[in-house]
Amino acid sequence: MSTTLTAETKSNPRGPASNGSAATPPGLSPRLSAIAAVTGYKTTTPAMDFSETPMQDLFCANVFSKKVMQERLPKPVYKSLMKTIESGEKLDPTVADAVASAMKDWALSKGATHYAHVFYPLTGATAEKHDSFLSPDGEGGSIAEFSGSQLIQGEPDGSSFPTGGIRQTFEARGYTIWDVTSPAYILENPNGTTLCIPTAFVSWTGEALDKKTPVLRSMQALNKQAQRILKLFGHEDGAFVASTAGPEQEYFLIDRHFYFARPDLVNAGRTLFGAKPPKGQEFDDHYFGAIPERVLAFMLESERELFKLGIPVKTRHNEVAPGQYEIAPMFESANLATDHQQLLMTTLKRLAEKHGMTCLMHEKPFAGVNGSGKHVNWSLGSRSQGNLLDPGDTPHENAQFLVFCAAVIRAVYKYQGLLRAVVATASNDHRLGANEAPPAIMSVFLGDQLTDVFEQIKAGGANSSIAKGTLTVGVDVLPPLPKDAGDRNRTSPFAFTGNRFEFRAVGSNQSIAGPLVAMNTIVAESVDYCATQLEAATDGTPESLHSAIQVLLTEIMNECSSVVFNGDGYSDEWHTEAAKLGLLNMKSTPDALPYLQAPEVAELFQKYGVLSGRELESRLETYLEQYCMSISVEAKLTYSMAKTMIFPAAIRYQNELAATCTNLKLLGYDFDTDTLDEMTSLVKQLQDNITLLQKKMDDAVGGGLIEHAKHFGEVVLPAMNAVREVADELEGIVADDIWPLPKYQEMLFIK
Ligand code: ADP
Ligand code: MG
Repeated sequence: MSTTLTAETKSNPRGPASNGSAATPPGLSPRLSAIAAVTGYKTTTPAMDFSETPMQDLFCANVFSKKVMQERLPKPVYKSLMKTIESGEKLDPTVADAVASAMKDWALSKGATHYAHVFYPLTGATAEKHDSFLSPDGEGGSIAEFSGSQLIQGEPDGSSFPTGGIRQTFEARGYTIWDVTSPAYILENPNGTTLCIPTAFVSWTGEALDKKTPVLRSMQALNKQAQRILKLFGHEDGAFVASTAGPEQEYFLIDRHFYFARPDLVNAGRTLFGAKPPKGQEFDDHYFGAIPERVLAFMLESERELFKLGIPVKTRHNEVAPGQYEIAPMFESANLATDHQQLLMTTLKRLAEKHGMTCLMHEKPFAGVNGSGKHVNWSLGSRSQGNLLDPGDTPHENAQFLVFCAAVIRAVYKYQGLLRAVVATASNDHRLGANEAPPAIMSVFLGDQLTDVFEQIKAGGANSSIAKGTLTVGVDVLPPLPKDAGDRNRTSPFAFTGNRFEFRAVGSNQSIAGPLVAMNTIVAESVDYCATQLEAATDGTPESLHSAIQVLLTEIMNECSSVVFNGDGYSDEWHTEAAKLGLLNMKSTPDALPYLQAPEVAELFQKYGVLSGRELESRLETYLEQYCMSISVEAKLTYSMAKTMIFPAAIRYQNELAATCTNLKLLGYDFDTDTLDEMTSLVKQLQDNITLLQKKMDDAVGGGLIEHAKHFGEVVLPAMNAVREVADELEGIVADDIWPLPKYQEMLFIK
């Protein structure tokens, strides 16, 4: 394949061979033909005409939004729905028929032929079951039907989704239940459109089989407790206090030809082999650099698609590693943000394909190169009170802010183990604690000013002066807090960033549901604790409230301030210091996940009605299983790639060297056998390590899932790494034209 393009190539945005099945030109390795294809593709970035509909007219174009509902629903129905959506009131099921009928008409007007209940199983993926609107009318024609009961409830055959023992396959019933708080939307396809209805997925015994249900429950719990604090401050309007989330998504883009030439990327989402490229990210020339044209074309189209779906994407930029990018939407209420985040991931993947690329969301697709995370910005607020983690402009607001802020600090301190456990996955293990990501130790970054305020409170608020006058017992004499309180800290897993916390340990591939459930619930518990203390200590006067707050905050900081850390989270000193402070440091998933069994975790989730004991156990089981399966797949891939791709390439080259050596000797020349010796030794090591890996994979492991997970993490993974190490060394020696796998430098730099 050369740069002369056929007409077919030009009109096909995916370029030639995008399905990976292209015949390899004789004599070219899959790797070299991938390079040739990519180089050929370079000139064919599909230009699209976006002039017809300007971006601003696209927002929510495919959403059954409040606006559409207002237009299409009878007034009382609309009002009743809004009460549920905005104030968290119970849904009146009698509105379902009217909503279903309006939704169907709207969907048909958008060309929909099918509807799908969309749900979020414990795998972290998105699942959907499509049904046609059309039914035979008995007269040889068809009619479009969609009833209230079809809207409210669906019954996918749930037996193939992991349930962690909640449901045996013989009792396969699982129901999807319409989630009114997340609007329905239209998914477009060149050949038709589908009405998608976000739902919760539960077993017939009412247990949550999904990631969505606990998010809704945890939001309810948080609202209930936050109302009590607001009431103490005289805010009794009852406006729903929702947790808000703004997830920043990092991802890599590589050309599809490279992707398909790498079985590890296709099957495991990360490279299991690959030597570090000569040029990595050390020049810092990629971060915030100019976005390559082809990538920008992809971004422009994705953003339009996301806009149509009502996802308010706001920023885009290059990330630190070559080939790495970030997209961040405006924050939304946690349940909506969760759905939108899933939709964003699938949309990016779909459109990358269309543009001839693959979007990699694995936390560490390339060893030794920065990985991808998903910073989940989190706060809580209501329509009437605004953002409750905004320090505000006046001292009075500060007092309320300080209570909520202290509640968060206490929550992170008390439940550090839980926060660690909810970001524990096989893939995130490669990222956490590596050079560019927060360590596995959970700590809170507050910034200098806020730390100072809390330090003074901890010291009893005794007459220490800061900028504006004296800080004494009454919290209301605190000076206004600055909105952007201090510096940023990229190394903290949980950082206060002016008016929200940023949970930076979340993996790029993860659903944000788990982290949000954890944050909402632990803060609900802390806010509950604060409200109980304050309610008991105050007699209703502002003075008594303020001295009660002073006492409470002092006590919280005395107990919990060891979790506040403003220094360099990447440093070794912090690891030593954190150990002294007694902070947990659970390095791997098999260390962290079993924390879900801690009695305080079960108690927490039960008390706030977020997860029953059985639901919690089922999650532990499912996540442990997923961990084991991920590593098992990777181990098998490592074995087969080493055996069928790398070993053959190595002996071919070894053979070539040996032949040259023999021939030259026959001819009486002196030939230096250093490379041949090196090759021979590496080939031997490779063989040995492959055999060892096979043995470790076959090891009989007793015990339960935790023991299995430990075996995978502590025995199988190192055995894989040993195979990789030799293979990566070979990559630096074997003749370039024989090496079968696209190399890092090609995948990361050729676009
Ligand atoms: P930075 O790179 O400085 O962290 P970005 O603009 O990339 O900033 O991302 C900030 C994220 O924080 C956005 O997704 C934004 O919507 C989110 N955010 C801002 N305010 C809140 C809030 N009150 N609650 C939740 N998320 C918020
Ligand atoms: Mg950020």
